[in-house]
Amino acid sequence: MTAVIVYGSAWANIMDFAAASDPSLETGGALFGEATGGRAVVVAASDAGPGATHLSDFFLRDLAYTQAFASRLHADTGAQWVGEWHTHPEGSGTLSERDLATYVGHLTDRSLSLDTFVSIVLTPSAHHVSLEPRLWLLTRMHDLVRVTSHELTIGEPSDDREV
Ligand SMILES: [Zn+2]
Repeated sequence: MTAVIVYGSAWANIMDFAAASDPSLETGGALFGEATGGRAVVVAASDAGPGATHLSDFFLRDLAYTQAFASRLHADTGAQWVGEWHTHPEGSGTLSERDLATYVGHLTDRSLSLDTFVSIVLTPSAHHVSLEPRLWLLTRMHDLVRVTSHELTIGEPSDDREV
């Protein structure tokens, strides 16, 4: 069974956001959908927002912008915050120590009630003609967080599914 499905529309948005950003600096955004028990469906992605911080090895979303995006989306579709996508302009597709520390912090923050967190890292391919995705899933069991790598599966919403 596929652990993570990313809707085609969300994936197209991520590629558009990344393409519109300075390729030498990190960018990213939040992922929304459903995630629990080590499985996730990503139905939407936000961009970094106008007040984001972009450095070559770090980015921070515009938090107020992301919160407004999340609230609007939740009211419209019920989708929850399930993860993050971001670029590593010079690095590998592996999660950095800072990435891991941030995500483990989210998963162990009891006020967030998250047990599954999706991270998509995009790195430039050879000749920088496109971005290659790596998909990571972090799953919390009690106080242990397991990190696994998965194929990126692009799916389409099925007609009978309410998200
Ligand atoms: Zn990173």
